[in-house]
Parts: sequence; structure tokens; C-alpha cells
Amino acid sequence: MTETDLLRRNVNLIGGQWVAADDGATLDVTNPADGAVIGTVPKSGTAETRRAIEAAASAFETFRKTTAAERADMLFALYEAIRTNVDDLAFILTSEQGKPLAEAKGELGLSAAYVRWFAEEARRAYGDLIPSPFKGRKLMVTREPVGVTAAITPWNFPSSMLSRKVGPAIAAGCTVVIKPASQTPFSGLAWGALAELAGFPPGVINVVTGSASVIGAELTANPLVRKITFTGSTEVGKILIRQAADTVKRVSMELGGNAPFIVFDDADIDRAIEGAMIAKYRNAGQTCVCTNRFLVQDGIHDAFVDRLARATGELRVGRGTDEGVQQGPLIDEAAVAKVEELIADAAGKGGRIVEGGARHALGGTYFQPTVIAEATTAMEIAQEEIFGPVSPVFRFNDEAEAIALANDTPFGLACYFYTSDLGRAFRVSDELRYGLVGVNDGFITTEVAPFGGVKESGIGSEGGPYGIDEYLDLKYISLGGLD
Ligand code: NAP
Repeated sequence: MTETDLLRRNVNLIGGQWVAADDGATLDVTNPADGAVIGTVPKSGTAETRRAIEAAASAFETFRKTTAAERADMLFALYEAIRTNVDDLAFILTSEQGKPLAEAKGELGLSAAYVRWFAEEARRAYGDLIPSPFKGRKLMVTREPVGVTAAITPWNFPSSMLSRKVGPAIAAGCTVVIKPASQTPFSGLAWGALAELAGFPPGVINVVTGSASVIGAELTANPLVRKITFTGSTEVGKILIRQAADTVKRVSMELGGNAPFIVFDDADIDRAIEGAMIAKYRNAGQTCVCTNRFLVQDGIHDAFVDRLARATGELRVGRGTDEGVQQGPLIDEAAVAKVEELIADAAGKGGRIVEGGARHALGGTYFQPTVIAEATTAMEIAQEEIFGPVSPVFRFNDEAEAIALANDTPFGLACYFYTSDLGRAFRVSDELRYGLVGVNDGFITTEVAPFGGVKESGIGSEGGPYGIDEYLDLKYISLGGLD
């Protein structure tokens, strides 16, 4: 077995055993670069999911009693396993997801960074001693692992989304059942292989692939699961919150966004263009924190559109594994169709396509990086998550209008703005109803800071000193009779 074969598993990991679906059913996995089938994974269902949950519940009884130092050591071993295998893991990721290899390596680097961060945080899950209002009593608060955790993740960041869930869950002493996206299951299954390489006990990490609604129904209904952590669309997040209500599970939801990127007249335009390119076109625009709407003030508008169009036109589109490629294919035909619909709607309502606007000559699901000027709030693109390489540019007149436009959405994940005015930097930060704010900064994700949305973008936060809290329950102990 080569190293890549070792990591690229085509069966599920349940209780330390690599197994097919009970009936042998499989799902095809394709490479978005050319549509070729690159392998199959099990199409598991209720029975396999239940066994994975039971394996995790059984492992939890021992795992929850491990010391924080032991869990930290396991996570450091996992960190090393990711780093040692970064090239193979990146190749697997690009093959099923399409993003350029350099971006895939970047994602793996972030995965490793999250795991290391939570290895460090494992030892800092402190309790409290509360000053007692009663004589002869001590009031203590301890923090205990929530229990079996189900982690459901999307295709756009199939590795790093798991690192932000598995890392803190393990650090806290939870055990995990992973359900990766069906379009990118190999990167999810690789977490099982990495856990083995790192010496995790059987049952601590389990991975089940297959029908989302069937697996999701069991994960949310089974009382042994105490926590659902999900990254994906708001639509599916709402389903999971409803389903998890019957057994009152804790939930963390990292959902969709509609990020504004505001450029004020006083912005440093070079810096704004640099930030715009990262905040828009990373992963072909398929990220939850990608700019969905450029809001640009009158005075700088024309220069910004011109510069953005030029930089967009220079992006090199191609197969993710080819040298120098900056934008890969979109994930599937449905994604291309959605982008086409949004562009047609915008063009029909007065939008001016200044760059791109159509499928790429490479065919398949490749799409031209696109800029649309004269965008308005009447267009679908103002409300819908584009999830593609399209930059609509809206014009505004003053600060109040920019803030009103930016907040005019049910979402509240990431937002960005560019200004050279310090007062404005604070004023606008205060007014934006978002969980993540980049001021003169187009790439804000880091393992050391919290990541999460408000409004319909989610519940809870991943990363930073707060990420582990999502996997710990508070327990208050009143110790009396001490006088
Ligand atoms: P999705 O359709 O919601 O799928 C996400 C995951 O949920 C996949 O594993 C999917 O499985 C599973 N799923 C679908 N229906 C389900 C059900 N009824 N029960 C249980 N699981 C179910 O989202 P996506 O298209 O993969 O990802 C794009 C979305 O994720 C965007 O909206 C994006 O903004 C959001 N996102 C948010 C963040 C964040 O941190 N806030 C980060 C990345 C992405 P199958 O693949 O098998 O259908």
C-alpha cells in the first residue's frame, strides 16, 4: 500500500474496523476537473450509523477519563501525521474538490494548525471556584466533555472544517462520528486513517459516508449523541436544529453567508484590490466567507471597478493540479447553473458585465472569473449566496447607506471594509451585524481567533480560546458541611 492508498480509504471506519456498507452499496466520487469517477465510498445508512454511534459511546466511557495531557499528546501526534502527509492529503483533496493544489496545501496547513491549537487548549479547560455566600460551603465549577459528538461537514473545505470540530471535541474528551460531504468523502475518511496513524483508541473517531438525510436522521435522533456540530447551508442547518430538538442536543451551526466588502473613498486602493481578490476568488468563490457583494463609494467606484476587472481577467483558470493555476472548476454542474442564473438575472435588471460572465473555454464546470457593475438590491445576487467566481459591484454614497446595505440580509457571517480613517474603522465595525469583521484585511481566518456567524449564519463559534467550550458542559458542585 502506498502512503496515498493508506490515507485514501474507500470504506468506513466504525469502532476501529474499516468496513463497507452492510449491503455493499457504494457512491461514486468524481473529479470536478474532468468529471471522471475517481473511486467509490460506502453508501451507509441507519444501521451502520447506529453502530458508529454505539462504538463512539462505548469508547467515550474510557476516553472521557483520559487526562488532558494524554489527549494533548494524541492531538500533537495527529498534527504531525497531517504535516508529514500534507502532499498526499492535498492531492486527495484537489482530486475530489477541484481547488488548486496550493490552496489544498493551505487548507491542510490550517487543519494542522487547528489541531495543534486544540492540543494546546486541551490543558487549559480550567474550572472555577466561586466565592461562597454561605459559611462552610465551597462552590466549584468543573467542565466535562459533552459526550458523543456528530460532525457533519461540507465539500468546500472538507479537511479544515473537520479540524475545527474534531480538534476541540477530542481536546475536551468527546468521541466523534464524522459524516463528510458525499462529493468529498475521501478527505473525511482520511481523518480516520490519520487518527489510526496518530494512535487514537478504536471508536474515538468514526467516519460514515452515505445518504445525508438517512445518516443525519439517525445522528440527530439517537439519544447517545449529545452534540451536533454542523458546517453547511442554512437550509440544512435548520433541518438539523429541528431534528436535534427532540433529544435536546447541543448544536453548533456554521452556516451560509452573504459577505459585503465595503470600499470607502478614503481606502488604500492597492490594499483593497489585494484583499478583494483573496476574499472573492479563493476556492473559486466557493467559501462561506467569500465576498458576495462589493459595496463601493462614489468617489472611488470607477477606479475600483476598473482595477478589479483587470485583476479578475488575469486569473489563471485550469485544473487544480496544474502548475500556476489560481482557479479550479466549480464543484458541479448545479453550481455552474446557479451562477449562470444569477448573472442572467443581474444582466436583465441593468447589470453591466465588465469581465467574464460565461462558462470557460475549458468546458466542464470551469467558469470565467466575472465582474458585474451597476448591481442593485433588486437583483437576486444581492440576497443569494453566489458560491462562484462572480463579483457584483454596488455603488453607495455615504457611510450610513453602506452600513444599511451591508446589514440588509438575514445572514451575518463575514464582512470586510477598507478605510484609512481610524474613527470610521471603529464606527463601522460597531455597526456591522456580523460575527467576523475584516478591516483592511481580506483573509481573516486563523486558528487562534473565533470563527462563527450571527443571525441565520449560525450558532456558536469555532477556533480561538472559545472553540473548546462548544464541547464542554459546565457542572456546578456545592460542597457543604465544611464548618
Ligand atoms: P449542504 O448541502 O448543507 O451540505 C453540508 C453537509 O450536510 C454535507 O455533508 C451534506 O451531505 C449534509 N447534509 C445535506 N442534507 C442533510 C440532511 N438532511 N441531514 C443531514 N446532513 C445533510 O452544504 P454544502 O453545499 O455542502 O456547503 C456549502 C454551504 O456551506 C454554503 O452555504 C456555505 O456558506 C456553508 N459553509 C459555511 C461555513 C461556515 O463556517 N459558516 C463554512 C463552509 C461552508 P451530502 O454531501 O451527502 O449531501
